[in-house]
Amino acid sequence: MIPHSRPTIGASDIRSVQGVLESGCLIQGEQVRHFEEEMADYVGVKSAVAVNSGTSALHVALLCLDIGKDDEIIIPSFVCTALLNAVRYVGATPVLADIDERHFNLDVADVKQRITRRTKAIIVPHLFGQAADLEELLALGIPIIEDCAQSMGSLYRGKMTGRFGILSIFSFYATKLIATGEGGMVMSNQAHLTDKIRDLRDYDEKDDGRLRYNYKMTDIQAALGRSQLLKFTEFLKQRNIVADHYNQHLKEMNIDTPFICGDRSHIYYRYVIRHKEADSFIEAMSGLGISCRRPVYRPLHHYFRETEYPSTDRAWRDCISIPIYPSLTESEMDHIVSAFRSLEMKG
Ligand SMILES: *Cc1c(COP(=O)(O)O)cnc(C)c1O
Repeated sequence: MIPHSRPTIGASDIRSVQGVLESGCLIQGEQVRHFEEEMADYVGVKSAVAVNSGTSALHVALLCLDIGKDDEIIIPSFVCTALLNAVRYVGATPVLADIDERHFNLDVADVKQRITRRTKAIIVPHLFGQAADLEELLALGIPIIEDCAQSMGSLYRGKMTGRFGILSIFSFYATKLIATGEGGMVMSNQAHLTDKIRDLRDYDEKDDGRLRYNYKMTDIQAALGRSQLLKFTEFLKQRNIVADHYNQHLKEMNIDTPFICGDRSHIYYRYVIRHKEADSFIEAMSGLGISCRRPVYRPLHHYFRETEYPSTDRAWRDCISIPIYPSLTESEMDHIVSAFRSLEMKG
């Protein structure tokens, strides 16, 4: 079976982790500090704070903006529940917005209609590896938290995603662009915000009675993240090669390839196509030894029994994510393309 995603772990990753294990210092230390600096350099922001997951990163991002129970946070409906959970952790009200079906990110016109006096922030994911309409979203005048869990290395008008919001978050979950097993990071150019997050992630030896968390990353994870980061340019190249391969063959079959906005790059965290019979397509591909998936498990508005998200509902119904990752071999790519061809011929 060709899995839907697979981390790319090599000998250098194993050596790095082994080095930490042999050092006997497993907790947050030197490795975490270096990983933070290297990630901040890569993205081009002043400061980065490592935490234990992308969800924790979202949670502390909201906390450091003093968001609480009287506030509303706008998030897209077409995204994982991590965003919804983080908003609920701080007791704020999630306000769901619809998406633009060209790139599956927030629909700016729809967001605009949902802004109220209580709107304190917009969480802006860059889904599948292509940036959202950042300029238009920033023009709304509401603080933006960029969710770069799927967009590390992706450019918007020549600048890296993660440099536009007041804060940005990353995830290093096993299936993400670089993997530390579990892990996350928050970045900002404002030192008072990242200082606050450094304080929130660590509860130990503090006397003021304020609520804190245990959201620290270990040096084991950070060492793995660092060795993954060294290979990241190569990872992106490989993803692009796979995407080119799919683009070329799908065009021949008259299947729509992912749309790319002229002012941004796509790093193909996911390669998403649309199909009228998504369920039966996924099942048929599985029968041929290929694991395809819906790229979003369930739109968030379904949990609220709301109905007015037509683009999100269409995207959820039709979208299929096919395997794409640096370790996908040429023969696996060929197998996937011929599976496509045989299913298309059957109609
Ligand atoms: C994976 C992901 C998250 C959550 O990250 P975890 O590390 O799994 O907690 C948040 N937002 C987006 C867009 C993601 O893809």
